[in-house]
Amino acid sequence: MSSINPPELRSAGAGYRVGANDRREVVMARCETCGNDYDKAFQVTMGETTHTFDSFECAIHALAPTCKHCGIRIVGHGLEKEGTFFCCEHCAEMVGVTGLRDRIGAAA
Ligand SMILES: [Zn+2]
Ligand SMILES: [Zn+2]
Repeated sequence: MSSINPPELRSAGAGYRVGANDRREVVMARCETCGNDYDKAFQVTMGETTHTFDSFECAIHALAPTCKHCGIRIVGHGLEKEGTFFCCEHCAEMVGVTGLRDRIGAAA
């Protein structure tokens, strides 16, 4: 006799990482921004949290930081200074933050 098999939660793809404390098993592919239940939804993992979206637009809406100066969503490589984000060096300078370099290549 076998114990109750868990439902097929882990068929989300080869790259799906099962962490030690995986508290959020993703069962429904429902966009957390708009609530759309979409079979081609995808997941974005930031730190310890995995988010599910049906479109990049929704992902950007939920996750992309906004520029401290002009307020646009930073979709590309932004600039960061102690948790504050800027879309470009110009915006950073406008609020008095200098010495920022583009983070391209900063991460491994
Ligand atoms: Zn959505
Ligand atoms: Zn800006």
